[in-house]
Amino acid sequence: MSDGEREHIVALDKECVWHPYTAMDDYRKRTDPIVVARAEGVRIFDVDGRSYIDANASWWTSTLGHNHPRVVEALKRQADRMCHAALAGITHAPAAELAARLAQAAPDGLDHVFFSDNGSTAVEVAMKQTLQYWQQNERPDRRAFVSLEGAFHGETLGCTALGGIDAFRKPFEGCLVKTYHAPSPGNPADAGTAAAALEELVAAHADEIAAVVLEPMVQGASGMRIYDADYLREARRICDEHDTFLVFDEVFTGYGRTGTMWAADHAGISPDVLCMAKGFVGGTLPMGATISSARIFEGFLGESDRAFYYGHTFCGNPLGAAVALEVLRVFEEERVLEGAKGKAEKIERTFRELSRLPHVAGVRTLGMIGALDLAGDAGYLADGGWRVYEEAKKRGAYLRPLGNVVYVTPSVNVPDAELEELLDILGESVRAVG
Ligand SMILES: *Cc1c(COP(=O)(O)O)cnc(C)c1O
Repeated sequence: MSDGEREHIVALDKECVWHPYTAMDDYRKRTDPIVVARAEGVRIFDVDGRSYIDANASWWTSTLGHNHPRVVEALKRQADRMCHAALAGITHAPAAELAARLAQAAPDGLDHVFFSDNGSTAVEVAMKQTLQYWQQNERPDRRAFVSLEGAFHGETLGCTALGGIDAFRKPFEGCLVKTYHAPSPGNPADAGTAAAALEELVAAHADEIAAVVLEPMVQGASGMRIYDADYLREARRICDEHDTFLVFDEVFTGYGRTGTMWAADHAGISPDVLCMAKGFVGGTLPMGATISSARIFEGFLGESDRAFYYGHTFCGNPLGAAVALEVLRVFEEERVLEGAKGKAEKIERTFRELSRLPHVAGVRTLGMIGALDLAGDAGYLADGGWRVYEEAKKRGAYLRPLGNVVYVTPSVNVPDAELEELLDILGESVRAVG
């Protein structure tokens, strides 16, 4: 593509596109964006044919790499037949087969699948199901939630209430569902102390709490804060003791990101509700799902005024469902989780080496996640990570940071050679800013 064409796209963009999580004034003045034209496997290609290894799998979604041939084929097959049909009072094979398969793949005791459009709606469904459950099942005072400091659960007002990242939450203070934030068990805290604090909080407000909502094993958006599975077992025990619900938001952690299919598997427990998106559709289409226990489902049976009057126009969209079904098949048939073990070890080794650098304050890894903190200012808006981003971009990797946290979350099936190339670029880029 000629320079003129590239400039034309950027000019249109800067005139009319309002970008997510972006200070637009700064973007318009200073950002020279990568203009992507296509993606394949672990690489994105810009309009000039330069390629970048996608270090974060396009916002944690493309668990199987971009445009996995089987997934694209499933999408085309379904598109030829039917792109959409409403799911109220009728059904179709992709949604029914996917739901049955998810019930098998999910942790024990989760059998009832509610489809929606993305990760935020998957969490919103969990909030409304648990709230309404208690409204009509004897505990109408349960209208509040517990989540973690630094939590990220999405962008609806409901999800924003659960959120614990100041920059995202502050503009909406005063408009949010009541939420108690428990101390994070993630670094540098320890799981035992955090579990004791959770227990105290739940005990003090048990009459009000509809559910405890967690990102299991790792709090992604607040900087890849990884924590111990003991905390999840404790959270399960605490919720059982106070007879309230435990919700796992596995939008980021599901589908092999932490090395197991679900982060819940590390603890060997089941939540009452599990939310999924991102890897659920292998980074292909926007779709999410919420899978709930029989107890919750049955709490909505009986008179019609007990029903869950909630839905989105595109619930169970056949294209998304066909894709999600194929993603599950690929995970199984290509033995993706088994293959990830050796890759996780490579990530772990690289980050351990980088921990010796004087300007690296800490590192942590879990499965297909590796993260390091650059010494200096912390917080989502800190800019150290962006200097590493620029270095990586020059070397052919797209390495979007979280403030001063530099991390990789490549596709779970990233080929070894490309993973090594990415880790080399990471190392060089981090050293370059030291
Ligand atoms: C990304 C994310 C969400 C929100 O998902 P969207 O599809 O962006 O709405 C919710 N929870 C977690 C843990 C996430 O990582």
